[in-house]
Amino acid sequence: MELLNRLDRQLQTLEQHSLIRRRRTVETPCGPRVRVAGRELLAFCSNDYLGLAGHPALAEALREGASLYGVGSGASHLISGHGRAHAQLEERLAQFVGAHLESPRALTFCTGYMANLAVLTGLTAGDKDAEIFSESLNHASLIDGARLSRAKVSVYPHADLAALDALLAASGAATKVVVTDSVFSMDGDLAPLPALLALCEQHGAWLVVDDAHGFGALGANGHGALEHFALRSPYLVYMGTLGKAAGVGGAFVAAHEIVIETLIQKSRPYIFTTAAPPALAHALLASLDLLEGEEGRARRAHLQTLVAQLDAGLQLKRWQRMPSSTAIQPIVIGDNAETMNAGAALYEQGLWVGAIRPPTVPLGTARLRATLSAGHTSAEVAQLITALNALERT
Ligand SMILES: *Cc1c(COP(=O)(O)O)cnc(C)c1O
Repeated sequence: MELLNRLDRQLQTLEQHSLIRRRRTVETPCGPRVRVAGRELLAFCSNDYLGLAGHPALAEALREGASLYGVGSGASHLISGHGRAHAQLEERLAQFVGAHLESPRALTFCTGYMANLAVLTGLTAGDKDAEIFSESLNHASLIDGARLSRAKVSVYPHADLAALDALLAASGAATKVVVTDSVFSMDGDLAPLPALLALCEQHGAWLVVDDAHGFGALGANGHGALEHFALRSPYLVYMGTLGKAAGVGGAFVAAHEIVIETLIQKSRPYIFTTAAPPALAHALLASLDLLEGEEGRARRAHLQTLVAQLDAGLQLKRWQRMPSSTAIQPIVIGDNAETMNAGAALYEQGLWVGAIRPPTVPLGTARLRATLSAGHTSAEVAQLITALNALERT
């Protein structure tokens, strides 16, 4: 069949460029130590930054949620799928980040990908005079959300405030939306949020902050990037994901209640999809308690110790570190095949580190992306340091 042949030729091209992606099947709960194909591995590749994904209290809360609410929600939020657990979670999330917003309200989603589609389409829905200003290293879901919105999209270079200022000044759009990751997922650095917010307020633009990697992990109370930078503004539209540091799954948007009501009324990625199982919302309530409590504080402190340990221990000459103070620690190798070989060599030694190639990162910047978790011990991080230092010299 010619159609199949065409697809097959495209797959072969990917294979030739070392761009074929393969999945590994994990046989254990997510955590620092996992088993794949019967082999024990030390994993430095999940986004479970606080080590909560396998936490017994959350598994118990999920079981309790299932006995209270059953399994499926059965419908979209606007029909009959919006349950008590969803409502409680929205209230709790609005409180969680509400100190940084005006008239805060929160809205939950099944995934961060969908939340980002919903925000960017919702803020610009039916508005022929809208422009989205998107940071060049933004997550794929923000790029796709901007495309789906059909608004004009202008991309500004990474962390380039002057370029953004010029774009905003030149724009005649009535609705301006600046959108950025807070922690860049493949680089680990932080967006200059205070300066970005000042620019947005000056130009009358929304600032949409995707805090997928900051929620739960940043801030003294785990409230995320807005707490980390002590920001507060009615111009802020906040997106946090609940499947990374929070250890469960799903996402939410928090913003002024009028923004949230607009998303409920107009955002197709919110309206036309089945609500998440309510038991997940119930488990998330327990996760928020952990994040805000003593345990969350201790886990964030331990994670910071591990980041400092890695920073002090890595002595690389050819490979490039990126300046990152977060759990995301990239090591840029450049060449796709060399990056894949480095990843494979670590895997042979029982260390699982993500090898990231284009198009996830720009051409010529293939890298190892090591992520640390509060679930790691300092002996385990020492093992990673030794392996990376030795591997670079071979
Ligand atoms: C993971 C991630 C998302 C998507 O969130 P999911 O809940 O996994 O769909 C969005 N933005 C960024 C920056 C992410 O890292």
